[in-house]
Amino acid sequence: MKYVHSFEDADSELGGRPAKEVLGGKGAGLAEMTRLGIPVPPGFTLTTDVCLHFREHGGAYPEGLEERVRAALAKTEAAVGRRLGDPDAPLLVSVRSGARASMPGMMDTILNLGLNDSTVEGLAQESGDRRFAFDAYRRLLAMYGDVVLGVEHHEFETALAATKNEETKADGTELLDSELSAEALERLVERYKAIIAAAGEPFPQDVHAQLWGAIGAVFRSWDNTRAVRYRKMQSIPAAWGTACNVQAMVFGNMGETSGSGVAFTRNPSTGEKVLYGEYLPNAQGEDVVAGIRTPLALTAQAAPPGREADTLERKQPDVFETIAAHCARLESHFGDMQDVEFTVEKGRAYILQTRTGKRTAHAAVRIAVEMVREGAIDRETALMKVDPTSLEQLLHARLPVPADLEKRGIRPVASGLPASPGAATGQIVFDADDAERWASEGKEVILVRRETSPEDIHGMKAAQGIVTATGGMTSHAAVVARGLGKCCVAGCATLQVDYAKKLLVARSATDTQSFSEGDVITLDGSHGKVYAGALDVEAAAKVPEFEELMEWADATRRMKVRANADTPRQARVARTYGAQGIGLCRTEHMFFADERLHAVRCLVLANDDAARTRWLETIAPMQQKDFEGLFRAMDGLPVTVRLLDWPLHEFIPKEERDFASVAEALGESAEAIRARAENMHEVNPMLGHRAVRVGLTMPAIYRTQVAALMRAAAKVAGDGVTVIPEIMIPVVGMATELRAMVAIVRDEADRVLAEVGATLAYQVGTMIELPRACLVAGELAATAEFFSFGTNDLTQTTFGISRDDAGRFLPTYIDELGLLPADPFARLDEAGVGRLVQMACEDGRGARPGIKLGVCGEHGGDPASIDFCERTGLDYVSCSPPRLPIARLAAAQATLRARR
Ligand code: PEP
Ligand code: MG
Repeated sequence: MKYVHSFEDADSELGGRPAKEVLGGKGAGLAEMTRLGIPVPPGFTLTTDVCLHFREHGGAYPEGLEERVRAALAKTEAAVGRRLGDPDAPLLVSVRSGARASMPGMMDTILNLGLNDSTVEGLAQESGDRRFAFDAYRRLLAMYGDVVLGVEHHEFETALAATKNEETKADGTELLDSELSAEALERLVERYKAIIAAAGEPFPQDVHAQLWGAIGAVFRSWDNTRAVRYRKMQSIPAAWGTACNVQAMVFGNMGETSGSGVAFTRNPSTGEKVLYGEYLPNAQGEDVVAGIRTPLALTAQAAPPGREADTLERKQPDVFETIAAHCARLESHFGDMQDVEFTVEKGRAYILQTRTGKRTAHAAVRIAVEMVREGAIDRETALMKVDPTSLEQLLHARLPVPADLEKRGIRPVASGLPASPGAATGQIVFDADDAERWASEGKEVILVRRETSPEDIHGMKAAQGIVTATGGMTSHAAVVARGLGKCCVAGCATLQVDYAKKLLVARSATDTQSFSEGDVITLDGSHGKVYAGALDVEAAAKVPEFEELMEWADATRRMKVRANADTPRQARVARTYGAQGIGLCRTEHMFFADERLHAVRCLVLANDDAARTRWLETIAPMQQKDFEGLFRAMDGLPVTVRLLDWPLHEFIPKEERDFASVAEALGESAEAIRARAENMHEVNPMLGHRAVRVGLTMPAIYRTQVAALMRAAAKVAGDGVTVIPEIMIPVVGMATELRAMVAIVRDEADRVLAEVGATLAYQVGTMIELPRACLVAGELAATAEFFSFGTNDLTQTTFGISRDDAGRFLPTYIDELGLLPADPFARLDEAGVGRLVQMACEDGRGARPGIKLGVCGEHGGDPASIDFCERTGLDYVSCSPPRLPIARLAAAQATLRARR
């Protein structure tokens, strides 16, 4: 293994592995840019294999690594004409992590490495700027002390504050960091060195010891708490490891013609094709990302009114043009929107990093579609570029525009940057741990911070939205919120956040409002507004490009997509989301509606089928109306109606007065009814008297449902609507059971059709929800005209894990013990449940060629499970209406993957 690759020759010996796997995303990007001739400061990458070796061997490096690093360093030194530790021409380097997947801010970085008491003098002389040299040195000391030597960061902050206090400005205001004099910085350097020495070992003057200290810290940071947490969240395997990049420093803090910035090749929030980013003059790169000072816009177009002259575009047009050209080149080379970090050193631009830019779902769709229109990529590539689950974001809530709210007398309490779109309402919390805890108790929270840092990531994930008082559009809060699809208002300058008192104070010219922990606020991330209280949200307008992408997906996918919808209203909504039928209409609600419940209780507690029929007749007309609405809404599309699947147990009254009214209606004593109810009590209702078992033991119930359904179908068909009814029997486990039940269903359906004088095609099929049903699927298919896999129950019964109680231990299984890759109730377990599904499909097709096969469990809306359905050759997936766009795109991606 080569272990160390210089940027300029990294392509040659990766042993057939993708560059990102070996060099990490950052390292691969630097090598690729170097090859393209983009100005990248030279350097080298220690591979992810070094990290894995380091982890496995208790912090030891592979043999010979030192010589290889020395050789690579010599190349870098030659390229810049400076040497590490040489006081006359000192080379300074950055040492940065960089994993295969981007993990923004989760791991460690050291800048300005190579400075010591002697090289700092050299740097001062060479640059003619003593202030600059000591500023760089104090930054190194603080970073190195914190990251490598474990000195508390706030100790450095305290010393910095003390030093600032020693120099006052004429107007009495506090100094900025950039206003500290060279002498003050020299004093600060001495203080920092003393702090480090007092905490343990002194700061190493040996620059090579510094280098190895930093490399070790980077590799160790792969396993720090926040990286581990982030990996878990993003499903990044620990076994990937991080690479470590050592790169010659360029300086953005060498005066007003220097600076650092971030540029996205398109707007990551809206997807608009404009160079979009931020720039801090006279600053190092970390200052931009950390959100410490609010940066300037890159382009005049994006600048706040009146601030156009402050943009890089106007201040240094040549530099801006050069960066814009590099950005365009990088986007077309990588075929996707890039997130580029750059530094300008005395008017010369360097690109320090490029990666695929994180974006909102909105932007993802727009960019994918526009790049097809531009001829940069083809439709298939575009379809593969959008993450299906992110589409749910496009259907998120949105507030009316501020002007409309204003007309209703609703004014924001604070305004900031529209850092991540959407709207959110919740209770204020000031701490990420609180956010997580409150959310786990079912509360909706808004995380309010002065600024966020990588430590806050779990709280940001748990919150509905995020507000910060400082930071720009590329601050940590903004970037992470966009990645998570959370609404975020950043940089609300008029907000004061007091962590100690848990108080948020919003000041305006005219008044001051205070909010405590637990108070409710509403955010408008699309306009950067914060409102007091809970405001009504409305459905988000769709991205114009969304429909086009969906059309491409529909033209590509093989599987159909149906909706789980129970009411006419849901069915109408489902059609607007693109449903091609109803895959599951659960009919329980038709029994549970308030005005019907009494009748249903009476029928369940009645003594015989005759009494049951009487009670059923009172609700039959209402059920027929429900079915009519459903058929009308789904004109021309199939409607799968599942007959009642509810444990009888659930219908038994709990209140004394309900017992009394049932007893009166049935003409029996309350004691008799209560005794009968006690008899019906079940220990395990989910494995008890439910579904087809009720259908067979109390046939009146299913007969009445079928009669109502067929009457509805005949009536609506008579009005010219095309009805395609599919009657589905739940929780079947035996072929004998299915045969008996289907005979009853057909008998009733045909009786009704004859009675009303209609001829109407309908199908009868079964749900497959039990392992035994999968094992005897061939026999079932002799009777069933279709199978619909109820993968919720099938998962429950295959694992023997209750779907209602799984939450007590499954999270531990998944997150802490790593026994399962994902929640099997959300992502289909291919090895177990999936194997059963495959068997059932094969045997079902064997017995009835062309039998219709679908999935209607929650898995029908999960992309990974949809991919499995494609591979298994199912005809359709069915899911809840808001997940339909996800299913449509995921099905298209599955088709494309299968084609490859
Ligand atoms: C299933 O079991 O997967 C299913 C769709 O039915 P329900 O969720 O109603 O039990
Ligand atoms: Mg079920």
